[in-house]
Amino acid sequence: MPNMNSKAGHIPIRTCVVCKRKSAQSELLSFVMLPSGIAFDPARRLPARKQYVCQKWDCVSGLAKWRKKRHKGSRS
Ligand SMILES: [Zn+2]
Repeated sequence: MPNMNSKAGHIPIRTCVVCKRKSAQSELLSFVMLPSGIAFDPARRLPARKQYVCQKWDCVSGLAKWRKKRHKGSRS
């Protein structure tokens, strides 16, 4: 382990919900799920649970599919 004393500190790692790749939180777009749909929340003001997605069109556009899949079978 060469970099034990790195001053970089703790970088929060989050997982993209679409491609499941892990990246630094700052590299990802945060969003929240609202009853009306997905809302991007750059100011982190919304009191809902944050989800993360890569800042790539592939992943952002995959959100619609992800959301549909997620809701399938979990209707209560
Ligand atoms: Zn991704």
